[in-house]
Amino acid sequence: MSDFLPQDLPRLRTIATYLQRQLREVERQIDQAERWKASRAAAARPAAAPEWTPQMDVGADPRPVAVHHGDCNVGGRRRRPITRRDAIEALTHGVEACVLCQPDRELQILD
Ligand SMILES: [Zn+2]
Repeated sequence: MSDFLPQDLPRLRTIATYLQRQLREVERQIDQAERWKASRAAAARPAAAPEWTPQMDVGADPRPVAVHHGDCNVGGRRRRPITRRDAIEALTHGVEACVLCQPDRELQILD
């Protein structure tokens, strides 16, 4: 028998009920802390680079002047993500392939 627990059944059941509620509360707090930690980890991950980006002309008629691989830094902020299909279409319709990242090689577009 325990030295610090009461001996009578009603008080033992009351203590057991209290401890079960406390355990549920601790488990709820653990779940909440794990969800918070997972959301922080997801927010800390950098966004994946887009696969393909066109470099746009800075003139009055913004049109694509080059296609880049998504992680290529040439072209600065005048780029936006496009699909693989759009990249192929741009390259086959006269838009230049970047000479550094060479998206035409990966897309297997030959001259
Ligand atoms: Zn490039």
